[in-house]
Amino acid sequence: MGDFTVSLVKKPRYVIEDACTGCTSCVEYCPVEYPDKFNQGISDNKAVHIYFAQAIPLIAYIDESCIYLKEKKCRICENVCQANAIDFHQKPEKLQIRVGAVVLSPGYEVYDPAVKEEYGYGRIPNVVTSMDYERLLCATGPYEGEILRASDKKHPQNVAWLQCIGSRRLTEGDNSYCSSVCCTYTQKQVILTKDHHADAKCTVFHNDVRAYGKDFERYYQNTAALADTRFIRSYVNIVGENPENHNVIIRYSTPDEGVKEEEFDMVVLSVGLNPPEDNQRLAEMFGLELDQHGFCKGEPFNPMNTGAPGVFVSGAFQGPMDIPESVFSASAAGSQTGELLDYRRDKLTKEREYPSEKDVTGEEPRIGVFVCHCGANIGRIVDVPGTVEFAKTLPNVVYAQEQLFSCATNSAKEITDMIKEKGLNRVVVAACSPRTLEPLFRDTLREAGLNQYYYDMANIREHCSWCHSKEREASTAKAQDITRMSVARACLLEPLSEIDLPVNKAALVVGGGIAGMTAALSIAEQGHEVYLLEKSNELGGLAVRIHDTLDGLDVPAYLEELKAKVFKHPLLHVYTGAEITEATGYVGNFVTKVKSWRGLVEIKHGVTVVATGSGVYEPNEYLYGQDERVMTHLELEERITNGDEGLAEAETVVMIQCVGCRNEERNYCSRVCCGESVKNAIKLKKQNPERDVYILYRDMRTYGYMEDHYREANELGVRFVRYEPEQAPQVEAAESDEGKPVLRVSLPDYILSTEIAIDADYVMLAAAVVPGEDNVELSGLFGAALGEDGFFKEAHVKLRPVEFATQGVYLCGAAHYPKYIHETINQAYGAAGRALTMLSNDIVTVSGSVCEVKEDACMGCRACLEACSYDAIEMRKTKGGPKAVVNPVLCKGDGLCNACCPTGAIYLKHFTDEEVFSQIDAYAPPDEDILGQIDAAVNQ
Ligand SMILES: Cc1cc2nc3c(=O)[nH]c(=O)nc-3n(C[C@H](O)[C@H](O)[C@H](O)COP(=O)(O)OP(=O)(O)OC[C@H]3O[C@@H](n4cnc5c(N)ncnc54)[C@H](O)[C@@H]3O)c2cc1C
Ligand code: SF4
Ligand code: SF4
Repeated sequence: MGDFTVSLVKKPRYVIEDACTGCTSCVEYCPVEYPDKFNQGISDNKAVHIYFAQAIPLIAYIDESCIYLKEKKCRICENVCQANAIDFHQKPEKLQIRVGAVVLSPGYEVYDPAVKEEYGYGRIPNVVTSMDYERLLCATGPYEGEILRASDKKHPQNVAWLQCIGSRRLTEGDNSYCSSVCCTYTQKQVILTKDHHADAKCTVFHNDVRAYGKDFERYYQNTAALADTRFIRSYVNIVGENPENHNVIIRYSTPDEGVKEEEFDMVVLSVGLNPPEDNQRLAEMFGLELDQHGFCKGEPFNPMNTGAPGVFVSGAFQGPMDIPESVFSASAAGSQTGELLDYRRDKLTKEREYPSEKDVTGEEPRIGVFVCHCGANIGRIVDVPGTVEFAKTLPNVVYAQEQLFSCATNSAKEITDMIKEKGLNRVVVAACSPRTLEPLFRDTLREAGLNQYYYDMANIREHCSWCHSKEREASTAKAQDITRMSVARACLLEPLSEIDLPVNKAALVVGGGIAGMTAALSIAEQGHEVYLLEKSNELGGLAVRIHDTLDGLDVPAYLEELKAKVFKHPLLHVYTGAEITEATGYVGNFVTKVKSWRGLVEIKHGVTVVATGSGVYEPNEYLYGQDERVMTHLELEERITNGDEGLAEAETVVMIQCVGCRNEERNYCSRVCCGESVKNAIKLKKQNPERDVYILYRDMRTYGYMEDHYREANELGVRFVRYEPEQAPQVEAAESDEGKPVLRVSLPDYILSTEIAIDADYVMLAAAVVPGEDNVELSGLFGAALGEDGFFKEAHVKLRPVEFATQGVYLCGAAHYPKYIHETINQAYGAAGRALTMLSNDIVTVSGSVCEVKEDACMGCRACLEACSYDAIEMRKTKGGPKAVVNPVLCKGDGLCNACCPTGAIYLKHFTDEEVFSQIDAYAPPDEDILGQIDAAVNQ
């Protein structure tokens, strides 16, 4: 452990990396054509090619289909390459590298439906897999973003998706588990299909719709509400192909209409996830165990830990998971690696060096405009070449070009090269939202020796092609307007300096549940002082009410061990009964005042981790609180664990799912309650197999391996009855035929098409998980945003899932969204990993785009102080009276103060009045009095 030697064989590329310019002349002339694996074999490729449009590095390689490699003939590529980059003398290279730890992230293999005749894949041309369909949807796909069907290359207008292909089945060749991701990717594909062809008819044949992730429920509802879109709950058979039009005929049945046959232009098989192909080899090589399904067996309470010392696992090799979960686990594996190799931190890293900055102040603006296709995202709607030509006509624009993906490495280099070659001193990229990619483009300017604030971004994706996707001309006109406005502003941009701040190396973790304790321990293990705040008197959070997991793991024993480690750690300081009275400061330098059993303390820390968990809904329906036989799932778990006598005698128990959520008030799925109910139902059945246990559900969201437990519950005789929210179960106190007091639960049975009534001894409610009661307050204290449902909102769902937009503040556990313990641990290590990245720096840089006060113009009215949410402004005595002064480190540059200053004394650098007005004027000349029109609209 801590010292591995890894032997690698690097295959020859037959192309000299440093010489290849990626011009693709060789690809054009290569005579070999064969099905392109990257595009699922739908289109052809050449023996010499670039792997895909955004490959890094973006240079060619020659594969084994090359005629010269097979028959020693051809070598056309060598002759056409202007750069002399082809080198057939290259040989496989053996490499040995020494590393301290290994992170395995081999992901998964997509299920191959060709293994089963019944799916018709490979036999019926218009049956495709969801992966084929992904490629068809993509701008770099086989038909450059056009969805064409194989039989006649026509656009399919009537598409069906069949869910759970290869998943949730015990049949030979299939997987028993749920693949977790296919319900949601199908919804995405439906939305994109409608984007491509607004009139297309989309039908999804599904079992349970497993929209269990953050914001997924709303996404599902939005998809289902699209015009001509149907979600049909039914098993489906592929009957065959209509020989006349090659449509695919499928058979299905619904309770209302019985068995039906219907024809579709195209059928998409929503295939599941298999373990990676070389799982066995990896297991043998690294000495790890595979689980019953062939994925890597992680430690139950630490899914990144393979059990093989120094070998960690992240992503879908842990088991099926989606992108945000993969990103948590990647960051988490990073944190685990950091714990192991902390003693070697900074030994191999090098400071990045930028060329010195050129002073261009006083020069005439020379603007370069780069217009991005964003694959087909922009290019399909906006006329990109036309916008480039338009940009060239704008004042001060000396250069303009289009780019397929401006964010790709080669495009960034192109921008840097053009800055140097054309002497550009301002850059406008017309692409997507500055929210995610602006830092990348600014960096590009730095690489070229320009001040990074000479950059502006015109958002022609979110503001044009996405929201006006049906109006190509108007969308293009708007893109050109936005580009013109951006160019006008760019002329006035000024260079700014950023501020370097020292980083206090301590961390504050708020919340002492599993998430908080895990994150705190991981940070402390890497040599940092950690202050762990818990508002109750005990560590453990909600998990103290959980006895075991669905896999049978002993939660109390785990918690005891975790708590012991926390209390023993010399760098970890626990404050129970803690209440935060004040939180001030900024990244690297926070100051938090805390009242706790230890008295009042002031804690100085460089980062904050919010791990405050969630609450549980207290139902006011189904007689909860009125009849003690009605309880929540956690109360049932407690009663089972404590051997409650009444429950032991019970003959019939009914569980009602989705209580208090998936409704108008709480439009999200609580994620953990289906598994919780299955767990309790199995226990009740095992206790007394004669007992009747019913689960009344809307969709059983037992994703991943929980599907095996759902099946076990079925096999044990637990009865699952589906209900619709419009006809939710009714619960009333009644008497059974034998005169026994019961809780009568009535609801329609859609399969039997009848009304059923169940006489139960107990009713259990799967009560919603709700946001923590302190969320609003904490949000204000730490500048931590809240989402629509009241849970904390990450900076970016995929790219920054464990941090807030506010620098230095991180997020994990149920505070982010309900999740199971192993998922909580994944995310907690992930947050620790990100926090440690910050703590490992001695300095942190903050934005130069902050407010400043023109002292002469300030009349000391304090209006700006009132407006600032970050306490960034204070009054200072001067000879001319009290004047406002901005602390640039605290200022977040939201500009609220600018709007209320009566004299215009306070202004935001990089968004000055002149810059903003220049944009407005560029949109419409001053004589159109746009400002007057805005004022009039506001006053209406
Ligand atoms: C009904 C139900 C059943 C479940 N069953 C299972 C199961 O079988 N298996 C499984 O894996 N998972 C299960 N879970 C999920 C599991 O409980 C969570 O994954 C886990 O508890 C989340 O840990 P956490 O630390 O994020 O949050 P929590 O456990 O909620 O801990 C957060 C802590 O922060 C503290 N806190 C809150 N606000 C503040 C503040 N302002 N200052 C300081 N401290 C604060 C809280 O008091 C609490 O101690 C279940 C959840 C529910 C609701
Ligand atoms: S239920 Fe599971 S296996 Fe089936 S489509 Fe949904 S996520 Fe995939
Ligand atoms: S019971 Fe809970 S996990 Fe299951 S679907 Fe309803 S809200 Fe989601």
